[in-house]
Amino acid sequence: MTNMRALYQEVILDHNRKPRNFGVLEGANRLAVGDNPLCGDNYTIYANLNDDGIIEEVSFHGTGCAISKAAASMMTVRIKGKTLEDAQELIEEFRMMLTGKLDPKGEHSLGHLTVFHGVSQLPQRIKCAVLPWHALQAAIEGEEIASTEGEHEVWTEDNP
Ligand code: ZN
Repeated sequence: MTNMRALYQEVILDHNRKPRNFGVLEGANRLAVGDNPLCGDNYTIYANLNDDGIIEEVSFHGTGCAISKAAASMMTVRIKGKTLEDAQELIEEFRMMLTGKLDPKGEHSLGHLTVFHGVSQLPQRIKCAVLPWHALQAAIEGEEIASTEGEHEVWTEDNP
């Protein structure tokens, strides 16, 4: 059990040190901002959704704590190439796991994302882990954007 926890922490630290899909996604047709002022996490999630409803490209950019950055990094890896339906399912399952409504040992599609289960024991950090997922949901449910200039939907975390 201790080794397992150490492994989980190592995965989170690795994604924090070397975040995947980090940066502005040129040509993204969806984006949303997630803001968690309690911790200082602020990320923009970029996605490119094709006509078949598949998330072809996804990236994130911004600043925040290790948990939020690792959560955003692992989310982009997991979500790339997925259909909107699969993405919605993952968003829901991740949120349920973090709020203690999903047993990581039970049936789900989360895979390696279960490394974040431990965060459900840290109430003040739950928002950090869920923030990028809420922003992803806002991005894929939002209106298509013509450019990254100008107005876009801003989502602020109040209730996980
Ligand atoms: Zn945070």
